[in-house]
Amino acid sequence: MSEIVWTDVGNDAARLLSRYIQIDTTNPPGNERAAVEFLEGFLTSRSIPSARYTSAPDRANLLAKLEGDGSAAPVMLLHHMDVVPANRDRWAEDPFSGSLADGHVLGRGAIDDKGLGVMQLIAFGLLRDSGVAFKRDILLLAVSDEESGGKLGSQWMVENHWPDIQCEYVWDEGGTGTIGIMGNRPVFAVSVAEKKGMNVRLTTQGTGGHGSFVSTSPLNRMVTALNRLQSSRMPAQFGDVTKKFLREVSRTQSFPSSWLVRNAYKPVVRTLVANKLAAIPAIDAMLRDTVTLTSVQSGAGTNVAPDSAIASLDVRLLPSTDKTDFLRRLKSALGDDSVIIESADPPPIVDSSATDSEFFRALNRVIVQRAPDSIVTPIQTPVGTDSRFFRSKGAHAYGLLPAILTQADLDTIHGANERISVTNLEFGTRIIYETLLELCA
Ligand SMILES: [Zn+2]
Repeated sequence: MSEIVWTDVGNDAARLLSRYIQIDTTNPPGNERAAVEFLEGFLTSRSIPSARYTSAPDRANLLAKLEGDGSAAPVMLLHHMDVVPANRDRWAEDPFSGSLADGHVLGRGAIDDKGLGVMQLIAFGLLRDSGVAFKRDILLLAVSDEESGGKLGSQWMVENHWPDIQCEYVWDEGGTGTIGIMGNRPVFAVSVAEKKGMNVRLTTQGTGGHGSFVSTSPLNRMVTALNRLQSSRMPAQFGDVTKKFLREVSRTQSFPSSWLVRNAYKPVVRTLVANKLAAIPAIDAMLRDTVTLTSVQSGAGTNVAPDSAIASLDVRLLPSTDKTDFLRRLKSALGDDSVIIESADPPPIVDSSATDSEFFRALNRVIVQRAPDSIVTPIQTPVGTDSRFFRSKGAHAYGLLPAILTQADLDTIHGANERISVTNLEFGTRIIYETLLELCA
Protein backbone atom coordinates (compact mmCIF):
# COMPACT_ATOMS: atom_id res chain seq x y z
CA MET A 1 0.00 0.00 0.00
CA SER A 2 1.59 3.26 -1.12
CA GLU A 3 1.35 6.45 0.91
CA ILE A 4 -1.67 8.59 -0.04
CA VAL A 5 -0.76 12.11 -1.19
CA TRP A 6 -3.83 14.00 -0.02
CA THR A 7 -3.26 17.18 -2.05
CA ASP A 8 -3.26 15.02 -5.19
CA VAL A 9 -6.49 13.40 -3.99
CA GLY A 10 -8.08 16.86 -3.61
CA ASN A 11 -7.09 17.82 -7.15
CA ASP A 12 -8.36 14.50 -8.55
CA ALA A 13 -11.65 15.07 -6.71
CA ALA A 14 -11.96 18.59 -8.18
CA ARG A 15 -11.43 17.31 -11.74
CA LEU A 16 -13.90 14.48 -11.26
CA LEU A 17 -16.51 16.81 -9.73
CA SER A 18 -16.07 19.27 -12.60
CA ARG A 19 -16.93 16.54 -15.12
CA TYR A 20 -19.80 15.22 -12.97
CA ILE A 21 -21.38 18.70 -12.82
CA GLN A 22 -21.24 18.94 -16.63
CA ILE A 23 -23.80 16.12 -16.81
CA ASP A 24 -27.06 18.04 -16.47
CA THR A 25 -29.25 16.04 -14.10
CA THR A 26 -31.76 18.79 -13.35
CA ASN A 27 -34.83 17.16 -11.81
CA PRO A 28 -37.32 17.26 -13.44
CA PRO A 29 -36.64 15.44 -15.70
CA GLY A 30 -33.55 14.05 -13.92
CA ASN A 31 -32.00 11.99 -16.72
CA GLU A 32 -29.71 10.34 -14.17
CA ARG A 33 -28.92 7.46 -16.55
CA ALA A 34 -26.17 9.66 -18.01
CA ALA A 35 -24.76 10.18 -14.50
CA VAL A 36 -24.87 6.42 -13.85
CA GLU A 37 -22.84 5.85 -17.04
CA PHE A 38 -20.30 8.43 -15.84
CA LEU A 39 -19.95 6.76 -12.41
CA GLU A 40 -19.74 3.32 -14.03
CA GLY A 41 -16.83 4.67 -16.09
CA PHE A 42 -14.95 5.69 -12.94
CA LEU A 43 -15.57 2.33 -11.25
CA THR A 44 -14.77 0.25 -14.34
CA SER A 45 -11.45 2.08 -14.79
CA ARG A 46 -10.56 0.77 -11.32
CA SER A 47 -11.95 -2.72 -12.01
CA ILE A 48 -14.70 -2.28 -9.40
CA PRO A 49 -17.91 -3.97 -10.60
CA SER A 50 -21.27 -2.25 -10.16
CA ALA A 51 -24.93 -2.95 -10.87
CA ARG A 52 -27.45 -0.66 -12.51
CA TYR A 53 -31.09 -0.52 -11.35
CA THR A 54 -33.38 1.17 -13.85
CA SER A 55 -36.50 2.58 -12.18
CA ALA A 56 -37.96 4.40 -15.24
CA PRO A 57 -36.83 5.36 -18.76
CA ASP A 58 -33.61 7.40 -18.37
CA ARG A 59 -33.85 7.12 -14.58
CA ALA A 60 -31.44 4.72 -12.88
CA ASN A 61 -29.59 3.95 -9.66
CA LEU A 62 -26.13 2.46 -9.22
CA LEU A 63 -24.76 0.11 -6.55
CA ALA A 64 -21.15 -1.00 -6.02
CA LYS A 65 -19.69 -3.16 -3.27
CA LEU A 66 -16.37 -3.86 -1.57
CA GLU A 67 -16.71 -7.26 0.07
CA GLY A 68 -16.01 -7.74 3.76
CA ASP A 69 -15.78 -11.01 5.65
CA GLY A 70 -19.34 -10.62 6.93
CA SER A 71 -18.47 -10.55 10.64
CA ALA A 72 -20.16 -7.12 10.89
CA ALA A 73 -23.16 -5.68 9.02
CA PRO A 74 -22.60 -3.49 5.92
CA VAL A 75 -22.10 0.27 5.83
CA MET A 76 -23.34 2.28 2.85
CA LEU A 77 -22.20 5.52 1.23
CA LEU A 78 -25.22 7.25 -0.32
CA HIS A 79 -25.61 10.29 -2.54
CA HIS A 80 -28.18 11.53 -5.04
CA MET A 81 -27.26 12.28 -8.64
CA ASP A 82 -30.10 14.70 -9.46
CA VAL A 83 -29.93 18.46 -8.86
CA VAL A 84 -32.46 21.27 -8.52
CA PRO A 85 -32.97 23.65 -11.47
CA ALA A 86 -30.56 26.57 -11.86
CA ASN A 87 -31.69 30.01 -13.02
CA ARG A 88 -28.88 30.88 -15.44
CA ASP A 89 -29.54 34.63 -15.25
CA ARG A 90 -28.49 34.73 -11.62
CA TRP A 91 -25.22 32.82 -12.09
CA ALA A 92 -21.82 34.38 -12.85
CA GLU A 93 -21.17 31.46 -15.22
CA ASP A 94 -22.96 28.58 -16.88
CA PRO A 95 -24.22 26.46 -13.92
CA PHE A 96 -23.17 23.31 -15.79
CA SER A 97 -19.67 24.43 -16.81
CA GLY A 98 -18.05 22.82 -13.75
CA SER A 99 -15.43 25.56 -13.97
CA LEU A 100 -12.35 25.31 -11.77
CA ALA A 101 -11.05 28.69 -10.60
CA ASP A 102 -9.72 30.34 -7.42
CA GLY A 103 -9.43 26.97 -5.72
CA HIS A 104 -13.12 26.18 -6.16
CA VAL A 105 -15.31 24.02 -8.38
CA LEU A 106 -18.40 25.95 -9.46
CA GLY A 107 -21.68 24.51 -10.65
CA ARG A 108 -25.09 23.17 -9.73
CA GLY A 109 -24.61 20.20 -7.42
CA ALA A 110 -21.10 21.23 -6.22
CA ILE A 111 -22.36 20.97 -2.62
CA ASP A 112 -25.76 19.29 -3.04
CA ASP A 113 -25.03 16.49 -3.68
CA LYS A 114 -22.39 15.71 -6.32
CA GLY A 115 -19.63 17.10 -4.08
CA LEU A 116 -20.47 14.50 -1.43
CA GLY A 117 -20.81 11.87 -4.17
CA VAL A 118 -17.28 12.55 -5.44
CA MET A 119 -15.78 12.44 -1.92
CA GLN A 120 -17.51 9.08 -1.37
CA LEU A 121 -16.49 7.72 -4.77
CA ILE A 122 -12.81 8.58 -4.37
CA ALA A 123 -12.71 7.36 -0.76
CA PHE A 124 -14.35 4.12 -1.98
CA GLY A 125 -11.60 3.68 -4.60
CA LEU A 126 -8.88 4.38 -2.01
CA LEU A 127 -10.40 1.85 0.40
CA ARG A 128 -10.29 -0.78 -2.32
CA ASP A 129 -6.66 0.14 -3.13
CA SER A 130 -5.69 -0.01 0.57
CA GLY A 131 -5.62 -3.80 0.46
CA VAL A 132 -7.10 -3.87 3.97
CA ALA A 133 -9.37 -6.83 4.85
CA PHE A 134 -12.77 -5.49 5.88
CA LYS A 135 -15.03 -6.97 8.52
CA ARG A 136 -18.13 -5.52 6.82
CA ASP A 137 -19.19 -4.89 3.23
CA ILE A 138 -18.82 -1.29 2.08
CA LEU A 139 -21.62 -0.31 -0.31
CA LEU A 140 -21.78 2.72 -2.55
CA LEU A 141 -25.25 3.73 -3.76
CA ALA A 142 -25.97 6.60 -6.16
CA VAL A 143 -29.68 7.35 -6.49
CA SER A 144 -32.08 9.26 -8.70
CA ASP A 145 -34.90 11.58 -7.83
CA GLU A 146 -34.05 12.80 -4.31
CA GLU A 147 -35.04 16.36 -5.14
CA SER A 148 -38.56 15.22 -6.08
CA GLY A 149 -39.08 12.97 -3.06
CA GLY A 150 -37.18 9.79 -3.94
CA LYS A 151 -40.00 7.78 -5.56
CA LEU A 152 -37.68 6.57 -8.36
CA GLY A 153 -34.56 6.58 -6.22
CA SER A 154 -34.10 5.66 -2.57
CA GLN A 155 -37.73 4.84 -1.90
CA TRP A 156 -37.84 2.60 -4.97
CA MET A 157 -34.58 0.88 -4.05
CA VAL A 158 -35.71 0.27 -0.46
CA GLU A 159 -39.10 -1.07 -1.59
CA ASN A 160 -37.83 -3.23 -4.46
CA HIS A 161 -34.20 -4.14 -3.73
CA TRP A 162 -33.76 -4.05 0.05
CA PRO A 163 -31.92 -7.43 0.17
CA ASP A 164 -29.16 -5.92 -2.02
CA ILE A 165 -28.68 -2.81 0.13
CA GLN A 166 -29.54 -4.04 3.60
CA CYS A 167 -27.08 -2.26 5.88
CA GLU A 168 -26.50 -1.16 9.44
CA TYR A 169 -25.20 2.33 8.69
CA VAL A 170 -25.85 4.88 5.92
CA TRP A 171 -23.70 7.95 5.24
CA ASP A 172 -26.06 10.48 3.62
CA GLU A 173 -26.46 14.24 3.23
CA GLY A 174 -28.43 16.36 5.74
CA GLY A 175 -25.82 18.18 7.82
CA THR A 176 -22.42 19.77 7.29
CA GLY A 177 -19.51 21.42 9.02
CA THR A 178 -19.66 25.20 9.30
CA ILE A 179 -17.48 27.96 10.61
CA GLY A 180 -18.38 31.46 11.80
CA ILE A 181 -22.07 30.71 12.32
CA MET A 182 -21.98 29.36 15.86
CA GLY A 183 -18.76 30.93 17.18
CA ASN A 184 -15.34 30.62 15.58
CA ARG A 185 -14.74 26.91 15.98
CA PRO A 186 -15.78 24.50 13.22
CA VAL A 187 -19.10 22.86 14.13
CA PHE A 188 -19.97 19.58 12.41
CA ALA A 189 -23.73 19.05 12.55
CA VAL A 190 -24.55 15.40 11.83
CA SER A 191 -28.19 14.80 11.01
CA VAL A 192 -29.61 11.86 12.96
CA ALA A 193 -33.31 12.68 12.51
CA GLU A 194 -35.45 14.89 10.33
CA LYS A 195 -38.72 16.76 10.43
CA LYS A 196 -41.86 15.38 8.82
CA GLY A 197 -43.32 17.34 5.94
CA MET A 198 -47.13 17.68 5.84
CA ASN A 199 -49.28 19.69 3.45
CA VAL A 200 -52.28 21.47 4.96
CA ARG A 201 -55.17 23.09 3.09
CA LEU A 202 -57.35 25.78 4.66
CA THR A 203 -60.75 26.66 3.17
CA THR A 204 -63.28 29.34 4.01
CA GLN A 205 -66.73 29.29 2.42
CA GLY A 206 -69.85 31.47 2.55
CA THR A 207 -71.64 34.12 0.58
CA GLY A 208 -69.89 36.54 -1.69
CA GLY A 209 -71.54 39.59 -3.15
CA HIS A 210 -71.03 42.88 -4.91
CA GLY A 211 -67.65 44.50 -4.43
CA SER A 212 -69.29 47.86 -3.63
CA PHE A 213 -70.54 46.74 -0.18
CA VAL A 214 -68.41 46.42 2.93
CA SER A 215 -67.45 42.76 2.82
CA THR A 216 -67.17 40.00 5.41
CA SER A 217 -66.62 37.51 2.61
CA PRO A 218 -64.75 34.21 3.02
CA LEU A 219 -61.64 35.91 1.61
CA ASN A 220 -61.70 38.53 4.38
CA ARG A 221 -62.10 35.81 6.98
CA MET A 222 -59.20 33.88 5.47
CA VAL A 223 -56.92 36.94 5.51
CA THR A 224 -57.80 37.67 9.14
CA ALA A 225 -57.19 34.06 10.19
CA LEU A 226 -53.87 33.94 8.31
CA ASN A 227 -52.80 37.19 9.96
CA ARG A 228 -53.38 35.64 13.38
CA LEU A 229 -51.45 32.56 12.28
CA GLN A 230 -48.51 34.64 11.00
CA SER A 231 -48.18 36.44 14.31
CA SER A 232 -48.18 33.24 16.36
CA ARG A 233 -45.44 30.63 16.66
CA MET A 234 -45.60 26.99 17.57
CA PRO A 235 -44.02 26.31 20.99
CA ALA A 236 -40.35 25.31 21.24
CA GLN A 237 -39.82 21.62 22.03
CA PHE A 238 -36.61 20.18 23.42
CA GLY A 239 -36.18 16.50 22.57
CA ASP A 240 -33.07 14.43 23.27
CA VAL A 241 -31.31 15.36 20.01
CA THR A 242 -31.92 19.08 20.56
CA LYS A 243 -30.64 18.90 24.13
CA LYS A 244 -27.46 17.15 22.92
CA PHE A 245 -27.10 19.80 20.22
CA LEU A 246 -27.41 22.66 22.71
CA ARG A 247 -24.88 21.01 25.01
CA GLU A 248 -22.34 20.69 22.18
CA VAL A 249 -22.78 24.14 20.62
CA SER A 250 -22.65 25.78 24.05
CA ARG A 251 -18.93 24.95 23.86
CA THR A 252 -18.58 27.55 21.09
CA GLN A 253 -19.67 30.26 23.53
CA SER A 254 -17.96 31.86 26.51
CA PHE A 255 -19.57 32.11 29.95
CA PRO A 256 -22.35 33.05 30.73
CA SER A 257 -23.67 32.54 27.19
CA SER A 258 -22.39 28.94 27.20
CA TRP A 259 -24.37 28.16 30.38
CA LEU A 260 -27.54 29.76 28.99
CA VAL A 261 -27.37 27.83 25.71
CA ARG A 262 -26.67 24.53 27.49
CA ASN A 263 -29.67 25.03 29.76
CA ALA A 264 -31.98 26.64 27.21
CA TYR A 265 -34.54 23.84 27.60
CA LYS A 266 -35.18 24.72 31.26
CA PRO A 267 -38.31 26.83 31.62
CA VAL A 268 -36.67 29.74 33.49
CA VAL A 269 -33.66 29.93 31.14
CA ARG A 270 -35.85 29.51 28.07
CA THR A 271 -37.32 32.99 28.40
CA LEU A 272 -33.82 34.48 28.55
CA VAL A 273 -32.36 32.79 25.46
CA ALA A 274 -35.41 31.95 23.34
CA ASN A 275 -35.15 35.04 21.16
CA LYS A 276 -31.40 34.68 20.73
CA LEU A 277 -31.75 31.09 19.50
CA ALA A 278 -34.79 31.87 17.35
CA ALA A 279 -32.79 34.61 15.58
CA ILE A 280 -30.73 31.87 13.85
CA PRO A 281 -33.24 30.44 11.32
CA ALA A 282 -31.59 27.01 11.13
CA ILE A 283 -31.76 26.64 14.92
CA ASP A 284 -35.28 28.05 15.15
CA ALA A 285 -36.48 25.42 12.67
CA MET A 286 -34.91 22.69 14.84
CA LEU A 287 -36.81 23.84 17.90
CA ARG A 288 -40.40 23.98 16.72
CA ASP A 289 -42.99 22.87 14.17
CA THR A 290 -42.97 25.41 11.35
CA VAL A 291 -45.88 26.61 9.23
CA THR A 292 -45.17 28.43 5.97
CA LEU A 293 -47.93 29.97 3.88
CA THR A 294 -47.20 29.02 0.28
CA SER A 295 -50.33 30.04 -1.67
CA VAL A 296 -53.74 31.72 -1.41
CA GLN A 297 -56.39 31.34 -4.09
CA SER A 298 -59.60 33.31 -4.27
CA GLY A 299 -61.50 35.83 -6.31
CA ALA A 300 -63.12 36.09 -9.75
CA GLY A 301 -62.97 39.82 -10.47
CA THR A 302 -62.25 43.19 -8.88
CA ASN A 303 -65.93 43.99 -8.24
CA VAL A 304 -66.90 40.57 -6.83
CA ALA A 305 -66.52 39.56 -3.19
CA PRO A 306 -65.63 35.85 -3.53
CA ASP A 307 -67.63 33.06 -1.89
CA SER A 308 -64.57 30.94 -1.00
CA ALA A 309 -60.85 31.11 -0.36
CA ILE A 310 -58.20 28.38 -0.19
CA ALA A 311 -54.74 28.64 1.40
CA SER A 312 -51.89 26.12 1.29
CA LEU A 313 -49.47 25.63 4.17
CA ASP A 314 -46.12 23.85 4.07
CA VAL A 315 -45.91 22.32 7.55
CA ARG A 316 -42.76 20.70 8.96
CA LEU A 317 -43.37 18.76 12.16
CA LEU A 318 -40.69 17.80 14.66
CA PRO A 319 -40.11 14.02 14.76
CA SER A 320 -41.98 13.76 18.08
CA THR A 321 -44.98 15.95 17.19
CA ASP A 322 -48.35 14.22 17.09
CA LYS A 323 -50.55 15.28 14.17
CA THR A 324 -53.70 15.68 16.30
CA ASP A 325 -51.91 17.90 18.82
CA PHE A 326 -50.51 20.01 16.01
CA LEU A 327 -53.91 20.46 14.31
CA ARG A 328 -55.43 21.54 17.62
CA ARG A 329 -52.73 24.21 18.01
CA LEU A 330 -53.18 25.28 14.39
CA LYS A 331 -56.92 25.70 14.90
CA SER A 332 -56.36 27.80 17.97
CA ALA A 333 -53.76 29.96 16.16
CA LEU A 334 -56.22 30.61 13.28
CA GLY A 335 -58.81 31.72 15.83
CA ASP A 336 -61.79 31.04 13.57
CA ASP A 337 -63.72 27.77 13.87
CA SER A 338 -65.27 28.24 10.43
CA VAL A 339 -61.90 27.68 8.70
CA ILE A 340 -61.90 24.12 7.33
CA ILE A 341 -58.56 22.37 7.92
CA GLU A 342 -57.59 19.41 5.73
CA SER A 343 -54.26 17.62 5.87
CA ALA A 344 -52.49 14.63 4.48
CA ASP A 345 -50.98 12.21 6.98
CA PRO A 346 -47.37 13.01 7.77
CA PRO A 347 -44.86 10.22 7.15
CA PRO A 348 -44.71 7.71 10.02
CA ILE A 349 -42.48 8.46 12.99
CA VAL A 350 -39.08 6.79 12.71
CA ASP A 351 -36.52 6.61 15.48
CA SER A 352 -33.55 8.96 15.52
CA SER A 353 -30.30 7.26 14.59
CA ALA A 354 -28.11 6.44 17.57
CA THR A 355 -25.41 8.85 18.73
CA ASP A 356 -23.65 6.17 20.79
CA SER A 357 -23.09 3.89 17.79
CA GLU A 358 -19.74 2.63 16.50
CA PHE A 359 -20.27 4.80 13.39
CA PHE A 360 -20.93 8.04 15.25
CA ARG A 361 -17.98 7.48 17.59
CA ALA A 362 -15.60 6.72 14.71
CA LEU A 363 -16.78 9.77 12.78
CA ASN A 364 -16.41 11.98 15.85
CA ARG A 365 -12.87 10.72 16.50
CA VAL A 366 -11.70 11.18 12.92
CA ILE A 367 -13.14 14.70 12.60
CA VAL A 368 -11.60 15.89 15.86
CA GLN A 369 -8.28 14.38 14.81
CA ARG A 370 -8.28 16.19 11.43
CA ALA A 371 -9.85 19.46 12.67
CA PRO A 372 -8.63 19.53 16.28
CA ASP A 373 -10.63 22.55 17.44
CA SER A 374 -13.94 21.28 16.09
CA ILE A 375 -17.19 20.27 17.72
CA VAL A 376 -19.29 17.36 16.45
CA THR A 377 -23.00 17.42 17.30
CA PRO A 378 -26.14 15.53 16.31
CA ILE A 379 -29.01 17.57 14.85
CA GLN A 380 -32.48 16.94 13.52
CA THR A 381 -32.46 18.56 10.11
CA PRO A 382 -35.41 20.75 9.04
CA VAL A 383 -35.16 19.50 5.44
CA GLY A 384 -36.28 16.13 4.12
CA THR A 385 -33.62 13.68 2.92
CA ASP A 386 -33.52 10.09 1.67
CA SER A 387 -32.35 8.98 5.13
CA ARG A 388 -35.96 8.48 6.22
CA PHE A 389 -36.38 5.50 3.87
CA PHE A 390 -33.37 3.73 5.38
CA ARG A 391 -34.27 4.66 8.97
CA SER A 392 -37.74 3.15 8.34
CA LYS A 393 -35.93 -0.17 7.69
CA GLY A 394 -34.00 0.07 10.94
CA ALA A 395 -30.70 1.36 9.53
CA HIS A 396 -28.87 4.16 11.34
CA ALA A 397 -28.49 7.01 8.85
CA TYR A 398 -26.14 9.93 9.39
CA GLY A 399 -26.31 13.09 7.29
CA LEU A 400 -23.02 14.92 6.87
CA LEU A 401 -21.15 16.66 4.08
CA PRO A 402 -17.70 16.51 5.69
CA ALA A 403 -16.63 20.02 4.67
CA ILE A 404 -16.18 23.29 6.54
CA LEU A 405 -18.56 25.80 4.94
CA THR A 406 -19.15 29.49 5.58
CA GLN A 407 -22.57 31.16 5.56
CA ALA A 408 -21.72 32.45 2.05
CA ASP A 409 -21.14 28.85 0.90
CA LEU A 410 -24.41 27.70 2.50
CA ASP A 411 -26.35 30.45 0.72
CA THR A 412 -25.40 28.91 -2.66
CA ILE A 413 -27.18 25.59 -1.92
CA HIS A 414 -30.25 25.50 -4.21
CA GLY A 415 -29.23 29.10 -5.07
CA ALA A 416 -26.86 30.83 -7.51
CA ASN A 417 -23.10 30.20 -7.90
CA GLU A 418 -23.04 26.96 -5.90
CA ARG A 419 -19.39 26.06 -5.27
CA ILE A 420 -17.06 24.02 -3.11
CA SER A 421 -13.34 24.48 -2.43
CA VAL A 422 -10.70 21.96 -3.47
CA THR A 423 -9.51 22.08 0.16
CA ASN A 424 -12.94 20.89 1.30
CA LEU A 425 -12.98 18.12 -1.33
CA GLU A 426 -9.62 16.88 -0.03
CA PHE A 427 -10.71 17.21 3.61
CA GLY A 428 -14.05 15.45 3.07
CA THR A 429 -12.56 12.56 1.09
CA ARG A 430 -10.04 12.01 3.86
CA ILE A 431 -12.69 12.09 6.60
CA ILE A 432 -14.78 9.49 4.76
CA TYR A 433 -11.77 7.28 4.02
CA GLU A 434 -10.41 7.33 7.57
CA THR A 435 -13.82 6.90 9.21
CA LEU A 436 -14.64 3.86 7.09
CA LEU A 437 -11.19 2.41 7.64
CA GLU A 438 -11.75 2.68 11.39
CA LEU A 439 -15.26 1.24 11.10
CA CYS A 440 -14.47 -1.63 8.74
CA ALA A 441 -10.84 -2.71 9.24
ZN1 LIG B 1 -29.46 17.01 -1.58
